[in-house]
Amino acid sequence: MTRRTYVTIGAGQAAAVAARTLRRRGFDGRIVLIGDEPHPPYQRPPLSKEFLAGVDGEDSLWILPPKWVADNDIDIVTGASVARVDTLSGAVELDGGAPVAADAVLFATGGSARRLTVPGPRPDLVHYLRTLEDARRLAPLLTPGRRLALIGGGFIGLEIAATAASSGAAVTVVETDPVPLGRIVGPQMGELVAQLHRDNGIDIRCGAPVSGVRTTAEGVLIDIEGAAAPVEADAVVVGIGMVPNVGTAIASGLQVDNGIVVDAAGRTSVPNVYAAGDVARRFSARAGRHVRLEHFDNASRQGAAVAHAMLGRDAVCDEPNWFWSDQFGRNLQFVGTARGEPVIRGDRDTLEFTAFYFDGGTLCGAFTVERGEDIAAARELLGRTVDASTLCDDDVDLFDLVYDEEPELEAQVRT
Ligand SMILES: Cc1cc2nc3c(=O)[nH]c(=O)nc-3n(C[C@H](O)[C@H](O)[C@H](O)COP(=O)(O)OP(=O)(O)OC[C@H]3O[C@@H](n4cnc5c(N)ncnc54)[C@H](O)[C@@H]3O)c2cc1C
Repeated sequence: MTRRTYVTIGAGQAAAVAARTLRRRGFDGRIVLIGDEPHPPYQRPPLSKEFLAGVDGEDSLWILPPKWVADNDIDIVTGASVARVDTLSGAVELDGGAPVAADAVLFATGGSARRLTVPGPRPDLVHYLRTLEDARRLAPLLTPGRRLALIGGGFIGLEIAATAASSGAAVTVVETDPVPLGRIVGPQMGELVAQLHRDNGIDIRCGAPVSGVRTTAEGVLIDIEGAAAPVEADAVVVGIGMVPNVGTAIASGLQVDNGIVVDAAGRTSVPNVYAAGDVARRFSARAGRHVRLEHFDNASRQGAAVAHAMLGRDAVCDEPNWFWSDQFGRNLQFVGTARGEPVIRGDRDTLEFTAFYFDGGTLCGAFTVERGEDIAAARELLGRTVDASTLCDDDVDLFDLVYDEEPELEAQVRT
């Protein structure tokens, strides 16, 4: 029998985890990861945190240890872009170079930083942060006194702002919404994070969009709609989200609708073609619709689940949306969805607390600062009717609530 070949398009988080899972689950065929970046798979979260701050070097970023890659006979092709897949023949066609014949293909093409659309300044004064190259280019600007303007107050923008301010840079954040992060964690918690930034010297300007970015002899001027004066800076960092990389999927005839549409196991409508990670819009029974998530945990879990599907096994990835962020030495975590006014467990003033969100009487989400263990419990309690005052009582062990209703889960966790 000829050896089967499984190919991933993209060599990021989801592809790396899929490759690792395939080998661990006994796939003895050829595994080829094709990525258009000049690196083997690396973790992106440190790019706005430890790596950008210069605390950790590049060696800490690699997802698959080189010895494991060699021992497990994984082909990692770097600097190669896939143009399309002929889904009838299984040929993976590169932009230049011979096609690779595949028995199964995983689209794990991630996303690209959303570009600024207002009239722009000199390109060398504008920065984005999605790749290791972006981080290498941005890091030297994080010096005392350097004036940086962040356009976009989402999680990545705020992380860059926090890292830059901690390096001594003078940082201004410009956010269109009334409160940074408001659409993700709700206005109350967004305001609290904004205050953390203000307390650390960051100038946060909310509530109006940027209308233009001009270049001057000294740097850049950022015009904000309705503002009396522009923000002056030496450089601009744009953090306004990402767009899924769907060009190759479209060229291959896959169904694309804000991401590659897949079922709960990561299968597209074309046999032997799968998608996972930031680019995949998978069916979630939990949400009752297709969802596309842009977080590390999702990319990793989906990468693992899709590997099972490629091996003909059933493994559904339908975990709740979970992610973390680190800002000014504080660990923030969020799970589920934010709705309405949250109830608080812990001490909001000292920034050691968890906010719980309810949809009717049902727990639908939680946001924490410095209390990751609460999120682990909240994750299990999502979708359950929980008494708000019990959640807020710090004398109550949240895992008692989890196990009260799920003795089997306790048995699983404790064995
Ligand atoms: C700066 C930053 C900080 C982050 N911090 C956090 C965090 O704190 N917590 C969290 O939960 N998440 C965080 N994330 C998100 C997390 O890193 C992503 O969700 C994760 O990397 C997604 O993995 P992926 O494999 O889907 O895509 P990616 O990691 O983006 O990998 C996709 C790869 O495919 C390549 N590719 C695309 N098209 C082609 C093609 N046609 N041919 C070949 N290669 C192609 C891309 O260039 C890329 O290398 C952060 C992201 C960034 C950018």
